[in-house]
Amino acid sequence: MKIIITGGAGFIGCNFVRLLLSRYPEAEITVFDKLTYAGRMENLHGFNGQIEFVRGDICSADEVAALGDCDLLFNFAAETHVDRSIEDAGVFVRTDVLGTYTLLEHALHHDVGRFVQVSTDEVYGSVPNGYSREHDPMCPSSPYSASKCGAEMLVKAYHTTYGLDAVITRSSNNFGPYQYPEKLIPVLILRALRDQHLPIYGNGQNIRDWIYVVDNCEGIAVAAEEGESGEAYNIGGGNERTNLEIARAILAILHKPESLITYVADRPGHDRRYALDCSRMREIGWKPRFLFMDALRHTCRWYQENERWYAPLLLAHS
Ligand code: NAD
Repeated sequence: MKIIITGGAGFIGCNFVRLLLSRYPEAEITVFDKLTYAGRMENLHGFNGQIEFVRGDICSADEVAALGDCDLLFNFAAETHVDRSIEDAGVFVRTDVLGTYTLLEHALHHDVGRFVQVSTDEVYGSVPNGYSREHDPMCPSSPYSASKCGAEMLVKAYHTTYGLDAVITRSSNNFGPYQYPEKLIPVLILRALRDQHLPIYGNGQNIRDWIYVVDNCEGIAVAAEEGESGEAYNIGGGNERTNLEIARAILAILHKPESLITYVADRPGHDRRYALDCSRMREIGWKPRFLFMDALRHTCRWYQENERWYAPLLLAHS
């Protein structure tokens, strides 16, 4: 079996490669990644000889063509940070929409068994009550989520128009090892470790449903194996927490005072709450395995033990 993983040098992608190596030990795995600021070869350490790495841009048809045929193509590659999308939407539209189109064209003209588009719960927009289901309308609020909607719509259209075998996964907020320290949980952990203030947007009451990255990776693999072509699958951890609760939990784990919490001006267009109904994933045999606090403790420990991984990134931002 040949598997291509775009964006495999990023946070979720590299955790997914680890999972696939144990799930399909015989598979030929190729990681295709542009190595933007978020993609790092350090994330793929220890895989020497087990995977092939190709540096390339998903927006370049020529570079993508080198990938040839495969049984499964997982598209993780994207620009992913909402705050950056508010500063400069163009690169999000290019990578997330044009890049997905380029990969879809590749899939149409090659023998690609199944196309798996990795998407996000942010496509539903803010959900004041209840839980988003897969056929709910998309209502994106940020240039990031709008770009991910555009990508999804192309995937769906290529399935409907050309019969491309494709599934879409929409996961909630991930956390775990190898997450770039611009996202909420690593920012809070690394600042707490250095006794710096923990910046919390607005009043800290925005709610996210957190999922441990390994649970999401297992869900993506199950959706690829069991999902119905043309369908989307919600993958949530079932751990709704306000940002303030997350900050307090991290401070408690690291034995730091709550006085480190500081409130900063809210993000424009900040969605209040995301929450997913994951019954479709349960129907095809997946549910999250990790308890939230255990996974958060493990994540804190991973950052404590991997200063060599994050130190250059902090330097780059200082
Ligand atoms: P990340 O930012 O850590 O990694 C993105 C990876 O994509 C990097 O390795 C980067 O080098 C690569 N990349 C970017 N532009 C590229 C291009 N033009 N060509 C080839 N490679 C390129 O992101 P992540 O958090 O690992 O997210 C992975 C996927 O999961 C994304 O599609 C994201 O939308 C989705 N997702 C993430 C979360 C989350 O909480 N992190 C939640 C739901 C969905």
